[in-house]
Amino acid sequence: MNRSDLIAATDLCVKCGLCLPHCPTYVETRDENESPRGRISLIQGWATGALGAAPELTRHVDNCLLCRACEAACPAYVPYGGIVDRFRQEAGAAGKPLAARLKSGILRKVLTGPSLSRLAGSSLARRAAVAIKNLNGTKGLGRGFGIAELAAGLPETSVRPIKKGWTGFHPAENGRGIREVLLFQGCTAALLDSETMTSAIRLMNRLEIGVRVPEGQTCCGALHLHAGEGGAASERMARNLAAFESANSDVIASFASGCAAMLRDYGEAFPSAEAKQFSERIRDIGQFLAETPWPKDLKLRSLPATVCVHSPCSLKNVLRADRHAPALLRRIPDLKVVALPAQTHCCGAAGSYLLEHPQMAQKLRDDVLERILASKPDYLVTSNPGCAMHLRAGLKQRGREGIEVVHWVTLLARSLTE
Ligand code: SF4
Ligand code: SF4
Repeated sequence: MNRSDLIAATDLCVKCGLCLPHCPTYVETRDENESPRGRISLIQGWATGALGAAPELTRHVDNCLLCRACEAACPAYVPYGGIVDRFRQEAGAAGKPLAARLKSGILRKVLTGPSLSRLAGSSLARRAAVAIKNLNGTKGLGRGFGIAELAAGLPETSVRPIKKGWTGFHPAENGRGIREVLLFQGCTAALLDSETMTSAIRLMNRLEIGVRVPEGQTCCGALHLHAGEGGAASERMARNLAAFESANSDVIASFASGCAAMLRDYGEAFPSAEAKQFSERIRDIGQFLAETPWPKDLKLRSLPATVCVHSPCSLKNVLRADRHAPALLRRIPDLKVVALPAQTHCCGAAGSYLLEHPQMAQKLRDDVLERILASKPDYLVTSNPGCAMHLRAGLKQRGREGIEVVHWVTLLARSLTE
């Protein structure tokens, strides 16, 4: 999107205000500048040259979670996410406080650097997870950089030994494979999602699906794009296009909905025929499993418990695929499945937002946790690693660590009979 495309995109907004009640930052502050309509007007003013990129202006855009609830509610189809990403690439970083830039920069380096992906499942990765968990982050550096918050959000499984290495082909069980799917691993699998990754492969293999995890894939680039680093995001896109290009399946599944949303948006963020074709192959794993016929003889073990299903904004507002997880979980005998109401706002995790805007992130999390706890769950499932981490830390803070936070794929895989 160039400057004139940006002006044209902001012109689509008819200022009706229908998006306002859907915007978490507007609902919390009641400030028009903290609303989608207000932010579009500010960006429009900047794009036309009527306003400069003053810190006050960029701060309001920086406060946006990019949850895209406004986009889902907008009758004029204003491409809000693309407008904000474009603005942040050109002007956004100037208004961001130095501490926030440092925190999100460190998070991007740690999570998306090649070293962590290469360490997936190794004893070194486990030792790093244990060290982070043991950090006393309640004061000084730990508190200032949100280390305590991050440490509290790590899953217990990140410190247990796991099967090493996922790259390659995992054949369907019983040699009855009728389909092959490509699996996007994401940069957080090593630290946050090892059990989800193993569960996704095991479940699909049992459903007679061969799973290929292509070598050379990398971080989707979402954290970079939303922080205004378009160049870094497009480098990652190029590596992913190359990694998945020659693989002979027309479906690329992702279990992390934030990654799936970014991969699905490659064609719009960086227009090219290759990026568009790649985007068309992306499926959230829930959508893929709901579209796939399950073997008639497949049995799942009973689980007499209550599970609360949280739908991340990326799943609900971008992929529009939030109906599948509850339906799939209802296959588990005796499991009571409670989905959070559709109008539940963003939990505040939003990539690196939880580190950069801790007060707003914790306020939003409190609202979501109230709704979750009202369902009296034994398990909380969500399909985005950032949301899982943020909500797990919030439950711990309230002394509710007995509620296990996992991906719903894991619950299904645990219910498979041997
Ligand atoms: S973004 Fe859409 S819903 Fe919001 S004010 Fe503009 S036209 Fe209306
Ligand atoms: S993306 Fe979310 S936080 Fe940002 S303006 Fe839209 S609804 Fe509000």
